[in-house]
Amino acid sequence: MAHAESFSAGTVYLVGAGPGDPDLLTLRAARLIARAGLIVHDGLVDPAILALARPNAELVSVAKSRANHTMPQDAINALLVREALAGRDIVRLKGGDPLIFGRGGEEAEACRAAGVAIEIVPGISAAIGAAAAAQIPLTHRDNASIVTFVAGQCKGLSDQDWAGLAGRGRTLVIYMGVKTAPQIAEKLMEDGLAPDVPVAVVENANRAAMRVLRAPLAGLPALVARQGVKSPALIIIGDVTARDNTALEQLALEAQE
Ligand code: SAH
Repeated sequence: MAHAESFSAGTVYLVGAGPGDPDLLTLRAARLIARAGLIVHDGLVDPAILALARPNAELVSVAKSRANHTMPQDAINALLVREALAGRDIVRLKGGDPLIFGRGGEEAEACRAAGVAIEIVPGISAAIGAAAAAQIPLTHRDNASIVTFVAGQCKGLSDQDWAGLAGRGRTLVIYMGVKTAPQIAEKLMEDGLAPDVPVAVVENANRAAMRVLRAPLAGLPALVARQGVKSPALIIIGDVTARDNTALEQLALEAQE
């Protein structure tokens, strides 16, 4: 580059937007959003969070959903690198935490490979936000000292080895598992998990439309179908989901269905 010595590339800030409620942003995230000139965001980022941007900020949506890939990952990486090399600072805003099922790692690698500086700002991941909102302790001295996060929609779900991830003393949190709930329930029971292990589904955690639904594992597919559960939702499996009376009542009702 001809004038490399006088040229200063921008920085890519990979920022976690948390699960929805703007109050759950970190101060660092809120400050970066408020001063950004360019924000490249996912579909999961709540409009209330985008509303914190400057009126003249450029907002680019690269919304991704299971059925509808508006911008392929390579194109997103290329966009970040191109804009940063052109000298712009970019806030790359992602739902939850950028490094949990957020492809933040891929974007960070693409930036590093192109010599673009990055900063990663953590966010409250959906599991953490949903647990708090639904008052489900992901660990508890009586019920669980292990918690695992898995992706329920990934290449070769049936080939993934989940044996031992759920069951006594363990909590399993499944992201992106709504569509594959029937296969997930079957897979876990094939691995030896009891059909009556309590499950909670937290839909739209930390948002106005939040629902917390419960069923024994064997009843999960029917629950998801009957209640019309939609993404974004998390499936939480383990005894920690059934510690209070509301939970036990919901479970008893489901068992009668
Ligand atoms: N990086 C994000 C996860 C992205 S994967 C994070 O750390 O949270 C997308 C999945 O996250 C969704 O399919 C859903 O399972 C979960 N998710 C994200 N926001 C959610 C919300 N508000 N309520 C429930 N689940 C949510």
